[in-house]
Amino acid sequence: MPEGLMLILPPDKSASFRDKMAKPWQRIHFAGEHTAIASPGMESALESAERVLGEILARR
Ligand SMILES: Cc1cc2nc3c(=O)[nH]c(=O)nc-3n(C[C@H](O)[C@H](O)[C@H](O)COP(=O)(O)OP(=O)(O)OC[C@H]3O[C@@H](n4cnc5c(N)ncnc54)[C@H](O)[C@@H]3O)c2cc1C
Repeated sequence: MPEGLMLILPPDKSASFRDKMAKPWQRIHFAGEHTAIASPGMESALESAERVLGEILARR
């Protein structure tokens, strides 16, 4: 099954989409390229991991 290369959204959709996809739900936190869409690719995926780590540490 083919897999996507990276998520690319129109500029006017990027901020609202990211805010919804990155929003934690109860104790579940969401990382991944699609939640950090300023620059698609590995850098965004790693950036999202850092964000989630910060969210989890902030809960303590
Ligand atoms: C062919 C190709 C070339 C690329 N080249 C580059 C490049 O040169 N430079 C660059 O920066 N980016 C590149 N990218 C993009 C980069 O690979 C992605 O941006 C990055 O991997 C996204 O990381 P992620 O953690 O968000 O998602 P992913 O790496 O897709 O990780 C998601 C993981 O979740 C797992 N998963 C899915 N569903 C479930 C489920 N229901 N239960 C449990 N696990 C699940 C998947 O198996 C996968 O391991 C390339 C992508 C492709 C496809």
